Amino acid sequence: MRVEFATFNKMHDEIENEILAKFKEVYEKNWFIQGSEVEDFEEEFAAYCDAKYCVGCGNGLDALFLILKAYGIQEGDEVIVPSNTYIATALAVSYTGATPVFVEPSIITYNIDPEKIEEKITPKTKAIMAVHLYGQPADMDPILVLAEKYNLRVIEDAAQAHGALYNGKKIGGLGNAAGFSFYPGKNLGALGDAGAVVTNDKELADKVRALGNYGSDYKYHHVYMGNNSRLDEMQAAFLRIKLKNLNRWTEDRRNTAKVYMEGIHNDKIILPKELDYAKHVYHIFAIRCNERERLEKHLQDNGIMTNKHYPIPMHLQGAYKELNISKGSLPLAEEISETELSLPMYYGMTKEEINHVINCINSF
Ligand SMILES: *Cc1c(COP(=O)(O)O)cnc(C)c1O
Repeated sequence: MRVEFATFNKMHDEIENEILAKFKEVYEKNWFIQGSEVEDFEEEFAAYCDAKYCVGCGNGLDALFLILKAYGIQEGDEVIVPSNTYIATALAVSYTGATPVFVEPSIITYNIDPEKIEEKITPKTKAIMAVHLYGQPADMDPILVLAEKYNLRVIEDAAQAHGALYNGKKIGGLGNAAGFSFYPGKNLGALGDAGAVVTNDKELADKVRALGNYGSDYKYHHVYMGNNSRLDEMQAAFLRIKLKNLNRWTEDRRNTAKVYMEGIHNDKIILPKELDYAKHVYHIFAIRCNERERLEKHLQDNGIMTNKHYPIPMHLQGAYKELNISKGSLPLAEEISETELSLPMYYGMTKEEINHVINCINSF
């Protein structure tokens, strides 16, 4: 039996007719940038996040970058970033000219450890990027307390956590602003690249909108040296269709996670832990194993595809060699990078597929 790491098939089969009809509608309307589909999606997605404003943009990296730029973060500044994340979090900081300062994760949640942030704060620190990694919210309350104490912005990297809850509250409106990705493989994915900024800060929303549109507040009037990073009508239209189904698709992922948790019994495996304050949306079902490569091979031999998130921590990437952070300096991020394995997780996994994964892990 073959089990894919992820597939869009089940999700897309359900909405194929609606998507194709929408394609035809937008196509015939002949209006592809900055129209009513984007406006409607922005309103609907802000409401989904229990936040006031949403500004569509080109992708998740741009969403994070535009927030930092709009808050005036620049060369000479420092931004706290988790050491265990996807590189986009750190790159968004670097593109402003500021320096990412890595903070270790909790080995239980894999998210930034709030207790290790304060020691990294300097007079140059301007913001904390909290990543809701794998779909579980970071522990935001202590982060918000530190931000208040040191007058820092809090930016959520929400690329993996659409719809997740922290103490019953939707992520996306917990800090000053949040960056979302709608990369196809994310829990809410477009049929191409797309992203959005969500915030309750009107001034920030307006500035991000201008910065992503050539720094223009109205046509041919450029107040900033902006970028071109806009959500287009076609992707917004597709995202609106998917958003209507997202809660149901998320519950299916959560059910798969529950069946995994109840079924997997193997002392060599560390299962993910859903914290009391969290509703995890399982973008990634991350297990850990000291014999990861052997486990990966065992699963592959049984037709089960897996992935690693992420095999090389940020500070050991070639892109960040200038920071001169040596191996061993961020041991928890390194340990996770050496032991993490992501199991198949997608909407519409069958009982047989889930049980095949469970049985193969139990027999390892
Ligand atoms: C996917 C992702 C991003 C970047 O999103 P793109 O749309 O690919 O630019 C940023 N941060 C995290 C944690 C991600 O997983």
